[in-house]
Amino acid sequence: MLLCTFIFQACSKEEFDLKDPVFHPYLTQVEIQLKEPSYTSKPDIFLCNFSNTYFEDEISIASCQLTDFGLVLLDYFESFFNDPYFDFDLASYYTELHKKYVTHYRGENYYGASGEYDQLAKKRIRELTAFWDLNREIMLNGQHTASLNDREILADMIESFDRTIRNRDEAYEKADALLEINALSPNLPESPYFAMDAFTLSNGLLVIGDGLIESLVAAGIEGEIAFTAILSHEWWHQAQYEYAEEWTEVEEYDEAWEVSRFIELEADYAAAYFLAHKRGATYNWKRIEEYFRLSFNVGDCLINSDTHHGTPTQRMNAAELGYELAESARKKGFILSPEEVHAYFVENLDKVL
Ligand SMILES: [Zn+2]
Repeated sequence: MLLCTFIFQACSKEEFDLKDPVFHPYLTQVEIQLKEPSYTSKPDIFLCNFSNTYFEDEISIASCQLTDFGLVLLDYFESFFNDPYFDFDLASYYTELHKKYVTHYRGENYYGASGEYDQLAKKRIRELTAFWDLNREIMLNGQHTASLNDREILADMIESFDRTIRNRDEAYEKADALLEINALSPNLPESPYFAMDAFTLSNGLLVIGDGLIESLVAAGIEGEIAFTAILSHEWWHQAQYEYAEEWTEVEEYDEAWEVSRFIELEADYAAAYFLAHKRGATYNWKRIEEYFRLSFNVGDCLINSDTHHGTPTQRMNAAELGYELAESARKKGFILSPEEVHAYFVENLDKVL
């Protein structure tokens, strides 16, 4: 497992240096893990990242079973190691560059490598907008491995975020050199690993990577429920931003990972509420349960991580609580407000933890 460590190390090579972010403080998951716990403060970015940064820590995963999803991710790494043209510094450069790009990109979007989730995204965004009634503009950026193989987009990324590059001509020059490596490697950038992002920012941005959905599908989850579950989970983080002043329960926690666990479990719970609700996505428990069971990652067991999402059992408990709440309101077809959904979670937290 330690061989996977390299890919996550911050790139030190001058040629892969990235510029500082333009609009927002940008944290990689690695940086989050390294920083001191920020007591009682809420994170300004929710990295609902399914990537397996935690492969670095062998001891922690020893007590945690590798899930089907974890095995899918492991396959990517095996493929990297068998690829003579694969370069770990370049892989790290691509993941950072791509995350910055989808963070700052504004414009037309498509979802799924060939737009296969476009209709679903449109439908779910419409439903979620009506369901939670949040007073904020929410944008959903798709993330695609193909972007890293597109000369214009790659040059855009390099010109915007690579601090060693001073102008468009230099960006093209570097993009062309990278495209030559891409042409030789079956993994760069085609591996789903290079579009694995799923996160939320306080400015209303949501990001869902194709590679993440593809990986969940490979683990046995149906694509539409995976997309809907991630979208509704991220959407709830927007409710948490909106009610940040009122929802102060997390301030009682001393540890950053406890804050993270509360926030993430609540997002799972609220997502399950939407997934099950008669006026939401109307999935039955069997499918919701399957999604949560199959999407668990080994990283979820690393409770000391500042980005801890809760153990698999806690996440399943949270999902069940949300499902039951939706069921109890089913006959009335009634949608609870974000405040009511939050209050119910706080009241029933002992059933989840
Ligand atoms: Zn989350």
